[in-house]
Amino acid sequence: MNYHQYYPIDVVNGPGTRCTLFVSGCVHQCPGCYNKSTWRLNSGQPFTPALEDRIIADLQDTRIPRQGLTLSGGDPLHPQNVPDILRLAQRVRAECPGKDIWLWTGYIIDELSPRQREVVDLINVLVDGKFVEALKDPALIWRGSSNQVIHHLR
Ligand code: SF4
Repeated sequence: MNYHQYYPIDVVNGPGTRCTLFVSGCVHQCPGCYNKSTWRLNSGQPFTPALEDRIIADLQDTRIPRQGLTLSGGDPLHPQNVPDILRLAQRVRAECPGKDIWLWTGYIIDELSPRQREVVDLINVLVDGKFVEALKDPALIWRGSSNQVIHHLR
């Protein structure tokens, strides 16, 4: 997996203070996408074991308490990203008790493959669906367009 940005402290992409990872790779090609530079899987830089360890350490950091981890992109559920995202989510569950995971995807929850569902089974909140420019509404919280759904899973 490649990624574009990692923010160790973020108060914009999800509730509370968070760690946020924007991964590379998205097949959805939504017109009006705010993050076109992330579409290519090989854009950005490699997601390394060192960065994975850093994210876990940041979530465990008691000096700046984080509510949880945000996974966005690009699309964290792009099939080629799923193995790394799954491992990261498993580690957060095992090593960062009490931290939540929010994940944004262009897929719809009902169309996910069994492998993608393994990730969804580990997260707290899934915001799903493509961005639809005609349904764009700046008043929406955590969503760009009104077709997208915030699924509180646990
Ligand atoms: S799913 Fe998100 S990143 Fe992918 S094209 Fe649509 S708006 Fe852009």
